[in-house]
Amino acid sequence: MRDTDLQQRFMVDSCDARGHLVQLDETWREATARTDYPETVRQILGEAFVAATLLASTIKFDGKLTLQVRGDGPIHLLVVQVTNEGNVRGLARWSTTPDSSALQVAFGAQARMIITIEANKNAEPYQGIVALEGDNLAAALQTYFHTSEQLPTELYLAVSENSAAGMLIQKLPAEERTYHDADGWQRARVLCETLTDEELCNESAETLLHRIFHEERVRLFDAQSVQFHCSCSRERTDGMLHGLGKQEVDDIIEEQGGVEITCEFCDANYSYDTVDAAALFKGLPTSETAVDSASAETPSNTTTPSGDSNSGTLH
Ligand SMILES: [Zn+2]
Repeated sequence: MRDTDLQQRFMVDSCDARGHLVQLDETWREATARTDYPETVRQILGEAFVAATLLASTIKFDGKLTLQVRGDGPIHLLVVQVTNEGNVRGLARWSTTPDSSALQVAFGAQARMIITIEANKNAEPYQGIVALEGDNLAAALQTYFHTSEQLPTELYLAVSENSAAGMLIQKLPAEERTYHDADGWQRARVLCETLTDEELCNESAETLLHRIFHEERVRLFDAQSVQFHCSCSRERTDGMLHGLGKQEVDDIIEEQGGVEITCEFCDANYSYDTVDAAALFKGLPTSETAVDSASAETPSNTTTPSGDSNSGTLH
């Protein structure tokens, strides 16, 4: 029995290649437990969970990486987020069941994949656009790696009933190569081609690497854990309602008796009644004042934390 839910880095020194392995079990089951995904959607979502985790594992960052596909095909949205701490969440939204999991069929011809990396501190977010070319996410991302990093990269993604797993191997940048075996990279690629989806999902990292690279010089580094974890919180929904504005929130409460927000990633429920809303907008003008200011063509989402009745009219 192998360890579960991990990402692990390795080097194939004799081929001047580096690699990453990701195996998701409980993480994957939790991510799909609340939604009855059709098989084709589930397959792509699983590949995306692994691909995003692999992508995140190849870069040093302190923040979150988001892999997102929006399209006009049967699946109109797919999003997976991974933090540097190995917290993963994601979902897919579909209108009809795609006939196949081929990207162009599933997402439509206009679809684009966007990879965003947001650092926790100061840095500008990085955004990369990936053409949805090739039959699957692995093929599309291989092209992305090749063009963005200029490094030959191979990706293998597999999804089974209980696991989603993948492996990435990449040729080392010229300055990091030590063996300078002209056939090294080609050999590594060919060896990896022998890997089956079943092995990828079920075998331990040690077994897998031994199976593939037993005639090469390989080093496997310590595993890091990966887990399903959603970053939603009461604080965040508070912020969202603040953004909507007191009037809008009061209106919803009057019409529906309360505000119910359910997180699409984890099903967590956040509800607000009149008392909660009052506490949320404490210090803001009363509804009556807000109506006045709204009629004066001011933004309805002014959240100036002031008791001043003029606060609805921002200057
Ligand atoms: Zn959540």
